[in-house]
Amino acid sequence: MAEETIFSKIVRREIPSDIVYQDDRVTAFRDINPRARVHILIIPNKLIPSVNEIQEEDEALIGHLFTVAAQVARQENIASDGYRLIFNCGRNGGQEVPHLHMHLLGGEPLKGFGFNC
Ligand code: AMP
Repeated sequence: MAEETIFSKIVRREIPSDIVYQDDRVTAFRDINPRARVHILIIPNKLIPSVNEIQEEDEALIGHLFTVAAQVARQENIASDGYRLIFNCGRNGGQEVPHLHMHLLGGEPLKGFGFNC
């Protein structure tokens, strides 16, 4: 059984965070150390440590993360200009918190990734 992280406490609203969307399956909240004008983390409410632990039964949940990402992007008025979605996985991927999370970054042109940078 994987150890809970601070993200489970955010889901249960046991610690303060700036939640921008929540339903029975996922929670979206502002990153505490934003790397872009808009930087939101979208996570499953249940603990899945990383992409490596995603099971076949989680596929609808993972799809829902993307639907919510697009909805939050519209809510933040960054959808039409575009944005970036990132999952870091494990040590080499730079994952710090072992609770699966999608980074939603936008609100300005993003550098350092993409083929035209
Ligand atoms: P990663 O490096 O992909 O694991 O990203 C973890 C992210 O979680 C980082 O961008 C952190 O700034 C962010 N983070 C860590 N603790 C909190 C917190 N309590 N509230 C919001 N974001 C957090």
